[in-house]
Amino acid sequence: MNSTAVEASRNILTRLHDVMASRSNAQAKLNNVVNAIGESLNSEVCSIYLLREGMLELFATRGLKQEAVHVTRLAIGEGLVGVIADQTEMLNLAEAAAHPDFSYRPETGEEKFHSFAGVPIVRRERAVGVVSVQHADPRRYEDVEIEALQTVAMVLSEVITNAELVDEEEARSLREEQTGPEQLRGLTLVKGLASGVAVFHQPRITIEHVVAEDTEAERQRVYMAFDKMREQIDHISSQAEFGVGGEHEEVLTTYKMFAYDEGWTRRINEAIDSGLTAEAAIERVQQRTRMRMRQIDDPLLADRMHDLEDLANRLLRIVSGQIGTAAKMGLRSDAILIARNLGPAELLEYDRRRLKGVILEEGSLTSHVVIVARAMGIPVLGRVRSLRTVVREGDALLLDSDQATATVRASPAMIEAFEARFAKNKERQAAYAKMRDVEPVSMDGQRISLMINAGLRDDMANLSLTGADGIGLFRTEFQFLVSATLPSRERQTRLYREVLDAAGSRPVKFRTVDIGGDKTLPYLRHDDDGMVEENPAMGWRALRLALEREGLLKVQARALLEAAAGRELNVMFPLISEPWEFDAAKDVFDTQLAFLKKRKKAMPEAIRYGVMLEVPSLAEQLDIIAPKISFLSIGTNDLTQFLFAADRSNPKLAERYDWLSPSILRFLKRVVDTVSPYDVDVAVCGEMGGRRLEALALLGLGIKRLSITPAAVGRIKEMVTRTNVAEIEAVVSGWLANPPADLRSVMADWARERNIISD
Ligand code: PEP
Ligand code: MG
Repeated sequence: MNSTAVEASRNILTRLHDVMASRSNAQAKLNNVVNAIGESLNSEVCSIYLLREGMLELFATRGLKQEAVHVTRLAIGEGLVGVIADQTEMLNLAEAAAHPDFSYRPETGEEKFHSFAGVPIVRRERAVGVVSVQHADPRRYEDVEIEALQTVAMVLSEVITNAELVDEEEARSLREEQTGPEQLRGLTLVKGLASGVAVFHQPRITIEHVVAEDTEAERQRVYMAFDKMREQIDHISSQAEFGVGGEHEEVLTTYKMFAYDEGWTRRINEAIDSGLTAEAAIERVQQRTRMRMRQIDDPLLADRMHDLEDLANRLLRIVSGQIGTAAKMGLRSDAILIARNLGPAELLEYDRRRLKGVILEEGSLTSHVVIVARAMGIPVLGRVRSLRTVVREGDALLLDSDQATATVRASPAMIEAFEARFAKNKERQAAYAKMRDVEPVSMDGQRISLMINAGLRDDMANLSLTGADGIGLFRTEFQFLVSATLPSRERQTRLYREVLDAAGSRPVKFRTVDIGGDKTLPYLRHDDDGMVEENPAMGWRALRLALEREGLLKVQARALLEAAAGRELNVMFPLISEPWEFDAAKDVFDTQLAFLKKRKKAMPEAIRYGVMLEVPSLAEQLDIIAPKISFLSIGTNDLTQFLFAADRSNPKLAERYDWLSPSILRFLKRVVDTVSPYDVDVAVCGEMGGRRLEALALLGLGIKRLSITPAAVGRIKEMVTRTNVAEIEAVVSGWLANPPADLRSVMADWARERNIISD
C-alpha cells in the first residue's frame, strides 16, 4: 500500500469504527456504512447486499433508489453481484453493462452508472454478501480503491456477524447447492470408500476482530509472531532429515525466502497502520497476493502460492494463539482429513474411529503416513492438485479411493450411487466378518495358513476380528517411524512383549527394522559421509543399515529376546541379498543370546529364524540359505520392483506391470520348487497375497501360507473355501508352460466359471 492507500483505508476504518461503536440498530449501521464508504472513496454509489433466504438482498445503498432496498434480490450467480458471491472474487469494470452477466434492475435506477466494482463479504471462506461501488464515469477503479473496499468487506463481515444479519449455516448449504458438484482426481494410496465432512488438519483461522484498538500493540504482536515463525522454520531446516539436499531442501529454501521476505513484513505493517488488527492485516495482505497470483497462470507459481499460504496460516495461528491441529480440537465423528501432507505421528494423533478418510495434496504409495493409514484401515487419496483451494472446511465429501476420486458437494444422484456402492461394500465386509470363525480349508481339504501384517500395538486387535492364524509380518520399523527419537531398548521390549501377549498362542514373525531408503528417520542421520542416495530403495536400508549402524540391531535383538522370554520367538531379516548377511544378522542374535545366558536371564523357549526374499539375487542361493532357516517370506512389494526395475513408489509405473505376469509367477514357482526339499515354510507377505486372483495364483504355485492386510482376510478366506487347490495347481502349471497372451483375463474367466470369485 502506498501512503494514500494507507490513509484512505485508515480514514474508512476510523469512520467504520465509529459506526460500529454507535448504539444504533443494525440497519442504521449499514446505512451509515454505505455513506461512510461512498464519501471516503468519493463514489456516487455504495451498496451492500447480504444473503437472506438464499438470495442476495440489497440491504443498504447510497446513490441507488431507496425504494429498491429490501426489494432488489439476486440469486447467487445472477448479475454482477451474484457472480462475485458465487466465485468469491472481486469485479472491477469500467462498463458494467458490457459484462455478460450484467442484469439490469430498473427499480434501482442504476442505468446512469457505468463503472462498477464489487468485492465479496466473506465469512468462514464463504460469501455472505457483497459490497459494491458505482460511478457515472466509465472508469476502472484503482487498486488502492479496491483494496480499501476489501478492507471494508472484512470489517463488514464482523459487523454483520455480530448483528446476526446473515445465517452462516445458510451460506454454507447454499454454496453446496449452488456451486454444484466437483470431482477431484488423485492417486489411490489406500483403497476404500468413505463419506464424511472435510476437516482441515490445520484449520483455517477465523478472524474475530478486524479493527484495531491499539495499533502499536498489533504491531508488536505481528513482530513477535514473525520472530516465532522464523524460529520454527529455522528449526525445521536444521533437522537432519532436511539437511541432505533434494526436494526437501528446495522447499525449505523457498519457505525461508518467504519467511524472511522484507516486502511481506512491510505490507503487513502497512495494513496494521491503516487500522487493522494483526490477524486482519495478515489476511488482508494474503488476499491481495492471492488476487495477483490468480491473474498469472503458472503452475510453478501456484505451488509457491501454496507455500506462502502455508506460511501465512502459520503466522495467523501463532498470532491468534489457535495453534492446534484438528486432532487436538475434538474431531467430529465423520471426518475426512484434508492436508497437504502428514507425518505418521500426526496421523496417529487422530481417533481412528472418527477418522473416515484422508485426502492429501502430496503423498506417495510408500510414504510413511500411507503405510500407517493402511495399517489403520483408513482410505487415503493422494496427489490431489489444488485440494485445499477447492475443498473447504465443512464441505460434504464422498471419498472413493478405489476409483481414485473424491466428490465435493455431490448431487443427490451421485450420493445415491455412492451409497449403493458403499452399502455393497459394507455388505461384503459384513459377510467377510462372518467368515471370522471359518477355517481357510480348500474344497479338496487343504488347510491354508492366513496370517495378517501388522506394525502397531493397536493392530493386534485385528487378530481376533479376522480370525487370522497369526502375524506373518510385524513391521518393527513402525515404532521407529512414529517416534520422535530412537526408541530405547526398554520401549522396544515393552512393545514386543505386548504384541506377544496379545497374540497368545498365535505366532508372530517379527521383522527387524526396515528403515532407510524412503523410510528415513529424522533422528537417524543418513548422510554421515555427505552422500545423497539417488536410488534409496536400492540404497543403504533395512539390514544393510542395521548391520552397520552400531548398536541398532544389537539393541533390537536384545529387546526381542527379552520380550520373548519363555515363549517362541520368530525373527526374520529383510532385504537379504546374499546368505552371509543372514549369518551376520544371526550372529548378532547369538551374541545377545550368549550374553543373556551368561547373566542367567530368562530366554525364549525356541527361536526360529527366517529371511525375506525381496532381492532377486537371493533366489540364486536358496539352496545355500535354506538349510539355515526355518521360514522364507516372499516380500512381493520389493521383489517385483526389483524384478521389473520399476520403482514401487512411482505412480506412473503403478499399473504397468502385473502381478499375474508369467515373469513373476515363473520366478516364484522356481523359488517354491528350489526350497521344497528343505524343511522351510514358504509364505508370501506382500500386498499381492491380499488380492483374490493373485492369491489364487499363489495357491496354484504351491504356496500355502499368506500374510496379508487385515481387511483382505475375509475375501481371501472365501476364495480359499471355494477353490480346489489341486485343480488350480494343475491349471497354473499349464499356463506357465504356455502363457496365454493375457493371463489375468484368462484366470479371471476361469475363476468366475467356477464361482471362486463371483464379483
Ligand atoms: C515387501 O516388500 O513385499 C514387504 C512385505 O515389505 P515392505 O512392504 O514393508 O517393504
Ligand atoms: Mg519390503
